[in-house]
Amino acid sequence: MRPRALSALALGLVLLVTGCGEAGKSPDKAAAPPSASAAPAPSPVTKPSPTRTPAKPKLRPLPKKLPAGLHRASGSNGVALTFDDGPDPRFTPQILAQLRAARVQATFCVVGKQAKRYPELVARIVREGHQLCNHSWHHDVNLGRRSAAEIRSDLQRTNEAIHAAAPKAPITWFRQPGGRWTAEEVTIARQMGLRPLHWSVDPQDWDHPPAKTIIKRVEGATRHGSVVLMHDAGGDRAQTMAACRHLIPDIKRRYGIALPR
Ligand SMILES: [Zn+2]
Repeated sequence: MRPRALSALALGLVLLVTGCGEAGKSPDKAAAPPSASAAPAPSPVTKPSPTRTPAKPKLRPLPKKLPAGLHRASGSNGVALTFDDGPDPRFTPQILAQLRAARVQATFCVVGKQAKRYPELVARIVREGHQLCNHSWHHDVNLGRRSAAEIRSDLQRTNEAIHAAAPKAPITWFRQPGGRWTAEEVTIARQMGLRPLHWSVDPQDWDHPPAKTIIKRVEGATRHGSVVLMHDAGGDRAQTMAACRHLIPDIKRRYGIALPR
């Protein structure tokens, strides 16, 4: 393999494995709650007492490799744009206006709580021809590791919030927050009619790099059939919005923009 091809492959691999990375974005969600185990060790004279710490739910281990069956390509020559973690009243309307100006459609991976809070934005996403993706109720990066019943009820609750805002709108996809998928979760999502949508290009815009860095990362990794992950919520997305003003027309011209299928 030529060195250039090799470095492109290496970059691709880095982009593939780093993922949504949102675990670092919201410490309130990702960090373990303070627990009794953080307390100082008991002194030797302390008499044994029944343990009061509530049992933590057991989480199934995260697989070392992504499970089979994830959609990581658009399914056509065009590039699929996906926007995660919204809707958000500041940024979702901006990205909708950009998409409308370019006459292209994208996929919005919405968080149930946000959908409940901003139903008019969910309705607008659907009205303007975009596709919906369930992104869990409160962006639970460990959802795939929970019990089947918990996974199912989280996805169901999120679907219901979406349908309260946009009755009968198809919810085509599910995307696990942080890309921390498990095989069990993929199976459950499929049983509920939600196809598992991963990505192939991750500019890590959640980490607030400048717009020019987001542009460079996306353009360096995008090919025909790529699925690009970006965020229209979950923090200050001004740099993503600025990057998209260049990226959307440019990707449309070079590859075409298509909904994933
Ligand atoms: Zn996310």
